[in-house]
Amino acid sequence: MSKTYRTTGVVIKRRDWRENDSLFTIYTEHYGKQNLVAIGSKKVKSKLMGHLSAYGLVDIMVARGKGLDKLATARLIDNFKMDLEDNYFYIGYVYELLDKAIEQGERDEKIWKILQSAVEWLKVTKTKDEKRLVMIYFTLQLMGRLGYHPELFNCVICKSKASDPVFFSLANNGLGCSNCSQDSFVVSQDMIKLMRVLISDDLEGFDKLIVKKKVIIEVIGFFRKWVPYMVEKEINSVKYL
Ligand SMILES: [Zn+2]
Repeated sequence: MSKTYRTTGVVIKRRDWRENDSLFTIYTEHYGKQNLVAIGSKKVKSKLMGHLSAYGLVDIMVARGKGLDKLATARLIDNFKMDLEDNYFYIGYVYELLDKAIEQGERDEKIWKILQSAVEWLKVTKTKDEKRLVMIYFTLQLMGRLGYHPELFNCVICKSKASDPVFFSLANNGLGCSNCSQDSFVVSQDMIKLMRVLISDDLEGFDKLIVKKKVIIEVIGFFRKWVPYMVEKEINSVKYL
């Protein structure tokens, strides 16, 4: 195994580490999620810090260590050129979900692609509802990829076609009919239809979607329960969507 490797990634978390060091969690293109130490990066003059404190794409060189791998160099190569004031909470949510839902060290080209699409669409969307739709797309795609794909067609227990009213069971991660609706709550048909579209693989873009505001709000409210339940962690930023 080579002693160093080079890849691109986004910094999803930073925390203090030992006296002068920082520990960065970086979601990388070729190595998945990695925890990397930047030695001495808390000193004001550290060259690395400027490049690692941004939201954008960084090119990094990593030195493999016995314990944690070390960040040798980092260079910001794309600052995403987006209005951060408009996108701050959304990017924060994307990074928190990558941090909380993904295990370390698994390369996944599909997740890298989903991340790229979410960033690209955040850059071109203007309204809050459009940006929320991007977040719904990102969440469903990521969760589906990680094995949390909900059953959105039939009752997850008796397999009958779910009819009005539709229930959702967190414990079973899917729809429930009115006979099997213990521990479930009612969800709208419109919400389920939107989720089916945004979790599928053939979405071209958001330009052709017409979605009522109340459905977007319902899905976001659903995510506040569903995502933490599935990944078994608090997701703080979901309340800001
Ligand atoms: Zn049933």
